[in-house]
Amino acid sequence: MFQLEPIAALATAPGIGAIAVIRVSGEGSVDLTNRIFRGKDLTQQASHTAHFGTLRTREGAIIDEVLVTVFRAPKSFTKEDVVEISCHGSEYIIRQILQRLTQEGARLARPGEFTQRAFLNGQFDLVQAEAVADLIASDSEASHRTAMTQLRGGFSKKLKELRQQLIDFVALVELELDFGEEDVEFAKRDQLRTLMLNIRQVVRPLIESFATGNAIKNGVPTVIIGKPNAGKSTLLNALLNEEKAIVSDIPGTTRDVIEDELFIEGIRFRLIDTAGLRQTTDTIEAIGVERTMQQLDKAALAIYLFDAAENSEADIRAVQADLQVRNIPYLLVANKTDKLTEAALADWQETFGDDLVQLQANTGAGLDAMKTRLTDFVKRGATLADTTLVTNARHMEHLTATDDAISRAIIGLDSGVSADWLAMDLRIALRHLGEITGEITTNDLLDSIFSRFCIGK
Ligand code: GDP
Repeated sequence: MFQLEPIAALATAPGIGAIAVIRVSGEGSVDLTNRIFRGKDLTQQASHTAHFGTLRTREGAIIDEVLVTVFRAPKSFTKEDVVEISCHGSEYIIRQILQRLTQEGARLARPGEFTQRAFLNGQFDLVQAEAVADLIASDSEASHRTAMTQLRGGFSKKLKELRQQLIDFVALVELELDFGEEDVEFAKRDQLRTLMLNIRQVVRPLIESFATGNAIKNGVPTVIIGKPNAGKSTLLNALLNEEKAIVSDIPGTTRDVIEDELFIEGIRFRLIDTAGLRQTTDTIEAIGVERTMQQLDKAALAIYLFDAAENSEADIRAVQADLQVRNIPYLLVANKTDKLTEAALADWQETFGDDLVQLQANTGAGLDAMKTRLTDFVKRGATLADTTLVTNARHMEHLTATDDAISRAIIGLDSGVSADWLAMDLRIALRHLGEITGEITTNDLLDSIFSRFCIGK
């Protein structure tokens, strides 16, 4: 395995901690660490073994007592020789060790450089490399699960497979071009068509999953709207208390930028403008529907609460119309159902059908049903555990471009365009598919043509 020059960096979070881990990767990593280490001769140690010892300054003074783990290429994260130094988590010690490592020939790693090397050395594809970053950033059960699925291969395996099949077809179509005037057809059009439909069948659900994937990765900006006195702040408190979420209530900080967060079934809901809902009763009158409606611009989901004893159907229809125009999904919640008779409740339910959720915000009755409905908006019927979700805007862009190109090619095929037109759209699709997983398209396309069809040119 070809190894690049040694790089070093702190692998754990910066700051003070019980332990910090410094990682060194590249040609001669073990050797250079060994030069500052007192203990066993690291160069003689087997892969995946840990060794206690001390690290020394040039003058021989002890910097720290450490545990050094040796990984030999290619059985390491980067597939290069890797050393992991576990030291005490002092910023001074970390600085000293990094300085010693650089004195001995390592260079400080750039952000993401270890993962980049792992990718370049074929440890994983681009989607998986990006999933490493997502995994590190994941802060909820759902975002962790999504990143983990992608790290373990996710959709890239399927895309690579389809792309390989498409490469073979493009090779055949381009071969037809070489025959110019002669009327040859190497690429079976019906098979090509089936393949293209297959690709679309894989790509389209991925594109559609982006809304959900993105919501899971970044949280769902959610706003609670409704007339004054509908019970919005009561609901907010009930939601936050129930879930024991971290209420961002740090004195002196700007309330506008702080959002409350709520985790339901591992999905993060970011509640927008909850500061407005926490204000004292004097100002509550000022926070009318208009004020909360303004918050809708920032929201991906609205909880529209109304007082079932006070509000009229006409009021609600008007807000519904507004929400529809804004194209924001919303949950319609009838609050204060305790104030209503069974018959009146049945009336509401009949008027709005299954869309309506009944609630008593002050007692919490109906809250669980409401929360289930909230997660339904995100999941849209999918069980998160077995669904592959696209969370990355770059993937989304290339998937959309692939879909466009494939769709054009299908139309082209059906209307009998020439092989060169067809090849052009297919190449575009190949490029975008390849860019998702990080495979290089032009070279392997040529390889495929030449390796498969040695026709003596
Ligand atoms: P907001 O102006 O929309 O934030 O409304 P509040 O949350 O301040 O609630 C207005 C009043 O309605 C308060 O006195 C609440 O205690 C009361 N309230 C909230 N939910 C319910 C409910 O389900 N039933 C009843 N009877 N009262 C409620």
